[in-house]
Amino acid sequence: MNAKKELQVSAIQNGTVIDHIPAEYLFQVITILGLDKCGNSVTFGNNLESKLLGRKAIIKISEKFFKDEEINKISLIAPHAKLNIIRDYKVAEKKIVETPKKVVGIARCMNPKCITNVEAVTTRFHVINTSPITLKCHYCEKITDLKNIRIV
Ligand SMILES: [Zn+2]
Repeated sequence: MNAKKELQVSAIQNGTVIDHIPAEYLFQVITILGLDKCGNSVTFGNNLESKLLGRKAIIKISEKFFKDEEINKISLIAPHAKLNIIRDYKVAEKKIVETPKKVVGIARCMNPKCITNVEAVTTRFHVINTSPITLKCHYCEKITDLKNIRIV
């Protein structure tokens, strides 16, 4: 592990570091995980260099440990995200994001006539492909592909 990497992950005593977030989706990840409303200390870096993504973002949340279902929500926009679980300044565990089978209340249906776009109905999709991500609406059966995904 090089010195720079160690610095990035060891800045918090206990908590979670989410790495490899595409830079343009940093604030959407913050919103999806509810970090804009949580009382924990949240710090982030954006537009860091990444061989994988070009530009990436990293988020550090003190004293917060996510459930897999919570973190998997970000798979639509940050499929390469990696989590470092930090305990006593050390990486205690590493996790990768997995795409869930169902996506509820995160993305919009691209069909303007879909009930979820007309009435106050929570969106619900079945994931029919994970790479690239492809969603099938539970209500109107319209397919929403990666290019057309919009986060609620
Ligand atoms: Zn729909």
